[in-house]
Amino acid sequence: MKVTLEKATDLIKKGHTVAIPTETVYGLAADAFNVNAVKKIFEQKGRPSENPLIVHISDFDQLDLLASEIPETVKKLADQFWPGPLSIVLKKKDSVPDIVTGGLDTVAIRMPDHPLTLSLIKKTVPLTAPSANKSGRPSPTNIRHIEEDFGPELPVLDGDSSKIGLESTVVDLSGEKITVLRPGFVDARMIEDVLCQKVWVADQSDESTQKKSPGTRFTHYKPRADVQWLVEPILKITDSNHYYLFHRQRQQSSQKNVHSYDEDYPSLARDLYDHFRTADHLSCSTIFIEPFESEISHPIIPALKDRIEKAISS
Ligand code: AMP
Ligand code: MG
Repeated sequence: MKVTLEKATDLIKKGHTVAIPTETVYGLAADAFNVNAVKKIFEQKGRPSENPLIVHISDFDQLDLLASEIPETVKKLADQFWPGPLSIVLKKKDSVPDIVTGGLDTVAIRMPDHPLTLSLIKKTVPLTAPSANKSGRPSPTNIRHIEEDFGPELPVLDGDSSKIGLESTVVDLSGEKITVLRPGFVDARMIEDVLCQKVWVADQSDESTQKKSPGTRFTHYKPRADVQWLVEPILKITDSNHYYLFHRQRQQSSQKNVHSYDEDYPSLARDLYDHFRTADHLSCSTIFIEPFESEISHPIIPALKDRIEKAISS
């Protein structure tokens, strides 16, 4: 159910949840300091309690409410990337409830790039917000996706379709090595360029990554259809039970289940989860995706591969 900014403000202040637009994906938001409100997020999503949430702020100064140590590097990254799709992990203050951080002594923080959500935070408090989907379903990038998962009753602050379409990059600044825990629109190279120092990229299957960023352990992004890399070259598409996503190989097809992106990787990222959901509406059994050969380089490709591989393996 669409709600106004005023209504959303009122609901957050009263300890309810509201779905909010961001440039990455829609979030299911609650007052980050209200334990009962945050509990509702976990209940509504069916999210495992060990999976920590990202806290969304509207002003740099709000970091003081959340982080016990704010290294110089944070300011540099914020100047360059905030508001934007970069979540920064810092040592947390005791006042941040354990339910937000899944019991970790760190907290992930970001300033989202959406005027409605920034206004909502300014009128209320920092908001904790995982993606506004039922756990295990693809993240929502528009209000229709949210209603598919939660029905028409959930209050939604409608801010059009998400421009990026993949969840934020998560970078850990709480330890000795600066490490990207989850790839996203901001890649490790861009962070290195700003900080002029080495940035590590965590291996998602590594046990120590899973400990640091518990979200990597859980099933994500799964449509009902089976997702597979397309290994055989396709000469003619005849099977309407299959759904195809090409980024390089151009297909002349007006079929609803065949999409080509002509090397426009940001647009493929923006549409990926919508394709996952559309394939389910069309009752497709399998989604075939053209693999990314190693010679193609675009900063969004590691994030695209990560989300697709999660959908394949889960
Ligand atoms: P979501 O909100 O569903 O996009 O997931 C947020 C993800 O951010 C989690 O699943 C973790 O992987 C990561 N994250 C959140 N808080 C922390 C933290 N304190 N330390 C490391 N990773 C975090
Ligand atoms: Mg999520």
